[in-house]
Amino acid sequence: MAAAILAIALGAAAASALVARGSREIAPADPGRVHIAAVTVEPIAETKPVPRSGDAADDPAIWVHPDDPARSKIIATNKDGGIAVYDLHGRQLQYLAHAGSTTSTFPPSSHWGRRRVTLVAASNRTRDTVALFRVDQRTRRLAAIGSFKTGINVYGLCMYHSSATRDVHIFINSDGGRGTFEQYRVRARGNRVAARLVRSFDVGSEAEGCVADDALGDLYIAEEDRGIWKYGAEPSAGAARSLVDSTGADGHLRPDVEGLALAEGRDGTGHLIASSQGDDMFAVYRREGDNEYVGSFRIGAAGGIDDVEQTDGIAITTTGLGDRFPHGVFVAHDGRNGREHQNYMLVPWRPLW
Ligand code: CA
Ligand code: CA
Ligand code: CA
Ligand code: CA
Ligand code: CA
Ligand code: CA
Repeated sequence: MAAAILAIALGAAAASALVARGSREIAPADPGRVHIAAVTVEPIAETKPVPRSGDAADDPAIWVHPDDPARSKIIATNKDGGIAVYDLHGRQLQYLAHAGSTTSTFPPSSHWGRRRVTLVAASNRTRDTVALFRVDQRTRRLAAIGSFKTGINVYGLCMYHSSATRDVHIFINSDGGRGTFEQYRVRARGNRVAARLVRSFDVGSEAEGCVADDALGDLYIAEEDRGIWKYGAEPSAGAARSLVDSTGADGHLRPDVEGLALAEGRDGTGHLIASSQGDDMFAVYRREGDNEYVGSFRIGAAGGIDDVEQTDGIAITTTGLGDRFPHGVFVAHDGRNGREHQNYMLVPWRPLW
């Protein structure tokens, strides 16, 4: 099977030089828009469709198996139903019914009590709670830990594992309104979850996608109509922020701006990736410095797998996951999956810069 290669153009002039096997250059989605040099990449697997119909899939997360990376898995939401676990071929390994509506998951490896576990968090939109799970390394299955109540109508969420304090934080945002974020520090208290509200701020309008940079202490938030904001991830960072990119005439995003993910490279380098849902594209920025825009890509059809549209959540790891994903995997929600329910698509990641 020809390997699909993820190629990110560095600009219009450099684009053709960087288009690798398995990728092809496409016309800009909007010719009037500046600096969009886009390439198409190909998926090599997609997950089984989610159980529910309609806009039911949303946010995926990747759990990297510490001893056998080829046995890593995708943990993803089936809104109003539960959480599904898939292997790297897209086969469903587990389905956890979860009362109410889950919308997002994200697992770093964290200190939890005296143990080190991989935490998975999901919002419950019926109860306005956040539920926590852990991954059992031996069985690769999810097990419930507990949940905590929030002060908002919950929507999307992301996790932050502070390198300064080792504390685990959860950022949870509100459905609609002024884009209210609450930041909770979560700790193990016996078998329960102890959550303390440590910060709250308004983004301005609806915001769902977010991702924290554990090493650099940054928090990126997608305000759906407006663009990507960069905040500090520590509770003491307040409401100070800067605009990384916008949906405006000089930006590279088309609303809604949805999922965000961080492709971690060496020594604090890497890339921030955003789902530009309005043109079915993914915009890429440098992780470091002022988050310079480097290019955009879309996911085309290949090998009997359809293309990717209307993406909400995304996830990436740059850890090699065996022969099929030697430089990691990029996972994207597919909002239109032919005649079947929505699903998640797996693209081999390989940065070319
Ligand atoms: Ca959606
Ligand atoms: Ca959204
Ligand atoms: Ca939206
Ligand atoms: Ca599709
Ligand atoms: Ca969503
Ligand atoms: Ca699909």
